[in-house]
Amino acid sequence: MNFSDFNLKKEILKRLEEIGFEKPSPIQEKAIPLVLEGKDIVAQAQTGTGKTAAFGLPILNMLENGDKALIVTPTRELAIQVSEEIYRFGKNLGIHTATVYGGSSYNRQISQIKTSQVIVATPGRLIDLLNSGKIDISPKFVVLDEADEMLDMGFLDDIKEIFKFVPNDAQKLLFSATMPKEILNLAKTFLKNPEFVKITKQNVTNENIKEFCYVIDEYERKDALIRLIDYKAPNKAIVFCRTKKDVDDIAEYLKGIGFNASGLHGDMEQRKRETIIKNFKSNRLDILVATDVAARGLDVNDVTHVFNYHLPLDPESYVHRIGRTGRAGKEGMAISLVTPHEFKALSRIQKISKITLKEIPTLEDVKNT
Ligand code: ADP
Ligand code: MG
Repeated sequence: MNFSDFNLKKEILKRLEEIGFEKPSPIQEKAIPLVLEGKDIVAQAQTGTGKTAAFGLPILNMLENGDKALIVTPTRELAIQVSEEIYRFGKNLGIHTATVYGGSSYNRQISQIKTSQVIVATPGRLIDLLNSGKIDISPKFVVLDEADEMLDMGFLDDIKEIFKFVPNDAQKLLFSATMPKEILNLAKTFLKNPEFVKITKQNVTNENIKEFCYVIDEYERKDALIRLIDYKAPNKAIVFCRTKKDVDDIAEYLKGIGFNASGLHGDMEQRKRETIIKNFKSNRLDILVATDVAARGLDVNDVTHVFNYHLPLDPESYVHRIGRTGRAGKEGMAISLVTPHEFKALSRIQKISKITLKEIPTLEDVKNT
């Protein structure tokens, strides 16, 4: 199947050629025609499978003068990323996008909203603006992106609040990497006879990713991480930590021994976070050390390695974390450090992944690479 098999405007098809999208991904193949038909949909596909284009392209195709589309995402980073991606798709149509999130100027966002056809927002700031009466969106299209993350982050009430401002006849799309029953309930409440589109078995990790774990003792954790980084020599890596304090510690430590590394977590100033993400995307930074929340949905295409400094407690976070690599058909590697205390978490993860156990490379091995 090709993009030209969909009834898309020539400006969009030309743009897809320009940005090098050759073939629709499976979720795009299934979702784009349904959205173009005007259906509400609930779509599930793993991370990195092109969900943004699956809703973005058909919406851009249908937007007419004066229409607005509203896309709600769980984090600021994701809002920025989705907004940039939609802007990129819509360039030949002259589409403007507004990005709306907390910690940044109200006035600039209000004027952006007025002049943009596509608004990408995080729940908190969007509700502030809607309740203030300073903006009136009446969207024709509404997308809940990464809906499972939104519920995990406690945004259910916010979503309900946002829907009070959405006209009944708006077309509503819900996208998610996983489909817990809370998401199905949400769909039942707010969507009209939705079509369900599902690409993979629930929670199964991407086959482009090689997954290994190394069993260590707690006191070895930091040394094991460094040795694995030395051994694997990643081009571009994310190290996931459970706490902000771990992020600070590990980032400082890596910098101290000469790695081009930086930490990323929610207590950092917004501007600084944006700079770090920009540097990571443009290869001015090799290793990003981050918490789950800070790295949610982060779309950097060429991450070669994901390291789990600690295993995440739940398998879904594991799927999300390692989904930062192996994107857009590329190969990736996910490496986890596990102590005997984490065996329970490991066995839950083993049910949904193909993680295999490995021995830590010896110093000799490291020298020989
Ligand atoms: P998801 O939301 O499912 O995690 P994204 O929409 O962020 O995935 O897409 C992941 C990456 O793949 C992005 O960099 C995007 O530009 C790229 N991509 C999406 N669809 C295609 C396609 N059909 N061909 C090539 N690259 C694509
Ligand atoms: Mg996405």
